[in-house]
Amino acid sequence: MNHILVINAGSSSIKYQLIDPTSGERSAAGLVERIGEAEGRIVHRGVREEERAVVVPDHGAAFDELVAAFARQGAPIEGLGITAVGHRVVQGGEEFVAPTLIDDAVAERILELGALAPLHNPGQYQAIVAARALFPRVPHVAVFDTAFHQTMPPSAYTYAIDPEVAAEHGVRRYGFHGISHQVVSRRAAEFLGRPLESLRQIVLHLGNGASACAVDRGRSVDTSMGLTPLEGLVMGTRSGDIDPGALLHLLRGGYDVGGLDRLLNGRSGLLGFTGSNDFRDVRAAADAGDSQAALAIEVAVHRIRHYLGAYLVELGGLDALIFTAGVGEHQAELRAAVCADLEGFGIRIDPERNASPERGARRIGAEGSPVEILVVPTDEEAEIARETLRLVG
Ligand code: ADP
Repeated sequence: MNHILVINAGSSSIKYQLIDPTSGERSAAGLVERIGEAEGRIVHRGVREEERAVVVPDHGAAFDELVAAFARQGAPIEGLGITAVGHRVVQGGEEFVAPTLIDDAVAERILELGALAPLHNPGQYQAIVAARALFPRVPHVAVFDTAFHQTMPPSAYTYAIDPEVAAEHGVRRYGFHGISHQVVSRRAAEFLGRPLESLRQIVLHLGNGASACAVDRGRSVDTSMGLTPLEGLVMGTRSGDIDPGALLHLLRGGYDVGGLDRLLNGRSGLLGFTGSNDFRDVRAAADAGDSQAALAIEVAVHRIRHYLGAYLVELGGLDALIFTAGVGEHQAELRAAVCADLEGFGIRIDPERNASPERGARRIGAEGSPVEILVVPTDEEAEIARETLRLVG
């Protein structure tokens, strides 16, 4: 039996799944969260479901907690026939363009690339170290969020600044959510029964983090996140696009670097407008007459349509528009607003299909809409397992 352990370490959490990559079946899954805080928590679904408070100072300790959870339920992780471990890594820089077998040198590079992703790569490195110590004889594979976007042309990834400064500091657009954009664009093609190599797609990954991606015949040619996951769309707590001059203005006005970081990454986006980063709360507030909540949604929709228009032109036309992630999969009203009045571009949504509570990949375009409009659930863990299996055989 083939079991792949997928480790998806975020800035303050580790999600994990035990997946049979051929059937896609999950035999265990869980989440260790609030790493680095005074009180953390683990939710483990293995033999049974359990939830408990834990104290986890770092990602290595979080990994130890998940191992302990398996053991507590009488199913020690070492005895579960794990044949490979797949690790999500956020930043792979310019050198990691595909899933990569982790050895000491690769692990060290992942840590070094933490200079470009300080909230993510260091914790992912710790999880890699802990997992390799526990499973030294099993292949470990790094699957990068940036890799899918390494096909972007220089015109899309280059910032118009002094090239020497850019090179010295690694300042260019990398793009993120690549694992999601890749699995979703492939599954959309499968759903449509058309070759991926024949489709021009725009994928809108709208979750707590959000990004748009132009996928030309299976290859990313542009995406809205840049050097960091801060650029682009309006997100749960992140501002997305803002005039860099505004940052200079704020710095001159008394903000320091830490204050700007907290403002733009943690106190902006939906949360900044409304006090909640959860789109459901924002929608409810807007429906109850809160004008800031209504404005938040208008700005978010405006920004999505801005990228939609840009990518339509870059792709020279569009075959399929795909919505995914929490908001994209569940917020029908937002999807309708994004697609409103775009019949002239071949985008015609069907209000009934759009409002249907159905789950799974589905068509929400009107019969005969020249552009297919789909909802396709993302599944980053399944994609990490698939890529891991592809690499290790
Ligand atoms: P993350 O980026 O943290 O993985 P998700 O993809 O889970 O985020 O998306 C979180 C967002 O999705 C939240 O704003 C939430 O309001 C929205 N969302 C999730 N589930 C639903 C649902 N069933 N109905 C409406 N909105 C939802």
